[in-house]
Amino acid sequence: MSAVLDSPLLATYPATDVTLVRGEGAWVWDADGNAYLDFVAGIAVVGLGHGHPAPLAAAHAQLDALWHCSNLYGSEPAAGLATRLAARFPGSKAFLCNSGAEAVEAALKLARKATGKAGIVALEGGFHGRTAGALSVTGQPAKRTPFEPLLSGVTFVPANDVDALLAAVTDEIGLVLLETVQGEGGVHPLTPEFLAAARSSSLATDALLCLDEIQCGLGRSGTFFAFEQGSIEPDLVTLAKGLANGLPIGALLSRVDAFAPGDHGSTFGGNPVACAAACAVLDSIDDELLASVRASSAALVAGLAGLSGVLEVRGAGLLLGVELDRQAAPVVAAAREAGLLVLSAGENVLRLTPPLTIGEPEIAAALAALAEALA
Ligand SMILES: *Cc1c(COP(=O)(O)O)cnc(C)c1O
Repeated sequence: MSAVLDSPLLATYPATDVTLVRGEGAWVWDADGNAYLDFVAGIAVVGLGHGHPAPLAAAHAQLDALWHCSNLYGSEPAAGLATRLAARFPGSKAFLCNSGAEAVEAALKLARKATGKAGIVALEGGFHGRTAGALSVTGQPAKRTPFEPLLSGVTFVPANDVDALLAAVTDEIGLVLLETVQGEGGVHPLTPEFLAAARSSSLATDALLCLDEIQCGLGRSGTFFAFEQGSIEPDLVTLAKGLANGLPIGALLSRVDAFAPGDHGSTFGGNPVACAAACAVLDSIDDELLASVRASSAALVAGLAGLSGVLEVRGAGLLLGVELDRQAAPVVAAAREAGLLVLSAGENVLRLTPPLTIGEPEIAAALAALAEALA
C-alpha cells in the first residue's frame, strides 16, 4: 500500500489510501481485500460493469490479432465502430480519439473550419475537459483561472437562461457547446426550452450546435443519447467515458463533413483494441438495457428522496445528483466506510453514476449504505 501512496505521480488528484485491484459487475475490491459497491464506475465509464463478457472477449480477441496499426491503414474495429455510431446518429461521420477532451478539441477545430468563425457559446458550470482548448470552454473559474489566458472568443451563459443564450448567439458565433445534462457542474439537466433555443439560434446564425454527451450519453440517461428525450438534434456529438467500458477512447460524431486529410489526427485514435471493445458496448446497449436503466433510476430516485438530509434528487437515468443539506465530502467518506463508492459534484451534491446493469439488490445495498452515511 505505501509503495502506491508514495508513488511519484504528479498531484493532479487528491491523495487516496484506497488502491483498487479487482472488479466484477458492480463490485470492486481493494488491496486489503475489502469489497465496495461501485456507484462511481470509473466516473460514469464502466457502464456495463467490471469485466463484462462482451467487451472483454472482443478486446481479448483483438489483442491476439492486432494491437495497433495507426490511421495510415484501415482497421476493421474502427470502421465497425464508425458504422455503429452512424446508425445511432444518422448522417454522421466519426473522428476517433482517446478521451473526452480530445473529442471536444476535435469539435472546436471542426466548427472553426466549417464556419470560419471563432466565437463560441458555452455554459457557466459546464465541463468539457482539461486540455487547453477544452478548458477554454469549461465554465468553471476555479479550473480556468490559473491557466489563463486561454482561447479568446468564448461567452459563458447560465444554464437554462433562454434570454441570455439568445443574446449571446450572434453572427460571430461558430459553435454552441452544451452538455445535455451537466455532469461535473452539479448534475443539472438542460430544459427542453433551452435546448430548442440553442437549436433555433444556432441555425439562424450558421453556428454549429454540439452536444457534449461524454458523460450523459451511451445509455446513461435511459435513452442512447440524452438529447433523444427532447425534440432537437445537434450537428455534432461528443462521446467518450462509457464508449469502451473502460478502455481509453473518445469520438466526435459530425453531420458536417469539414475536415480534409491533414486537418486533424491522433496516433492512437481509433486503436483497434479500444474500438473492438466499443463495438461490443454499442451492441450491448439495446432496448432491454435502456428500459432497465429507466427502472433502476426510478427505484433509486424514490429511495434517495426518502433519506434524511436529502433536499433534491435530479439528473437523468443513472446520472443522478443528490443535493444535501450538508457538505458532500464527509458523506462520500462515510459511504466508503459503509462499503459504497460515490462521487461528489460540487460542495453539497453527491453524484451517483453506477454501472447501467445494476438491479434491485445493488440499489437496496446502496440505499442502506447511504442511509448509514447520512445518519
Ligand atoms: C469527463 C468529461 C469530459 C472530459 O473527458 P476526459 O476523458 O476526462 O478528457 C468532457 N466532457 C464531459 C461532459 C465530461 O463528463
